[in-house]
Amino acid sequence: MRLRDKGVNCPTRCVLCNSDDDEDSYHLFFKCPSSSNIWTMFDAFQSMSGVINQGQDSAGNIFNMLQVLNAGDAALFCCTLWSIWKQRNNKVWNELTDAQRFVFDRAKTLLDDWKTAKDFCQPTSNMQRPVQYPRWQKPLEGRFKCNIDASFSKHLNRVGIRICIRDDSGSFVLARTEWISPLCDVHVGEALGLLSALEWVHLLQLGPIDFELDAKRVVDSFLSAQHDATEFGSIIHRCKTLFNLFYENSSVEFIRRQANEVAHELAKAASSSASFQILVNIPECIEHILINEML
Ligand SMILES: [Zn+2]
Repeated sequence: MRLRDKGVNCPTRCVLCNSDDDEDSYHLFFKCPSSSNIWTMFDAFQSMSGVINQGQDSAGNIFNMLQVLNAGDAALFCCTLWSIWKQRNNKVWNELTDAQRFVFDRAKTLLDDWKTAKDFCQPTSNMQRPVQYPRWQKPLEGRFKCNIDASFSKHLNRVGIRICIRDDSGSFVLARTEWISPLCDVHVGEALGLLSALEWVHLLQLGPIDFELDAKRVVDSFLSAQHDATEFGSIIHRCKTLFNLFYENSSVEFIRRQANEVAHELAKAASSSASFQILVNIPECIEHILINEML
């Protein structure tokens, strides 16, 4: 019918049932006796067939059906539509008659093959293996690790900064908490966290140390040679200067949030505490994480 509408002179009779009905998509997929027979093989479609509305076109009916079928049945429904379309084309273009049972089986086979291929391509999909979050790693022997995180409190108009140092056995060495007011953009606050750590840690004379934070933008800018004239850029510039001046054989690296849990938990508790604190004993709120990460 669409070809007719575009001026192509072709027969409009349905090739599957030879009725005088115009072969539009509604007829082909739902009204044609051949297709109706095919749908009788599909139980889920049968139980939902009440949603098929003669007053609507095929697109509307397909949409309605997809709303009521579960995901698996909706997939088979789509494959069956495709297989009916293929049956029709085989008749028109290849003069082949696909049996109705074959049409439905072809749809099921297509779906099964697709599922098998999908499983094969994704052997580590969520269905088969739980998501593995990155874990915090101890520093190499003789080194220290310093995790930094910032938290942002609109309510208190403050940025909390937390810095936690551990040794190569994963044991807690020292932590520092502070807050800065007023609140600023996240990347600026995270950059101030790195600056604060770099200003403090070299005074402890620990030797080689790996700084880790979960702010990718800060780490990328720190490692980049590009000049940035913004406030953020000048903080990063100051970080680079301190790092080059005081830290030998050390590093600044990005880690995912899940591996920065100690600093993150400390930072959450930040804004309510005094403006500046050095913690010599393991703070209670991170004890369980520290023990976990030492294992
Ligand atoms: Zn027909």
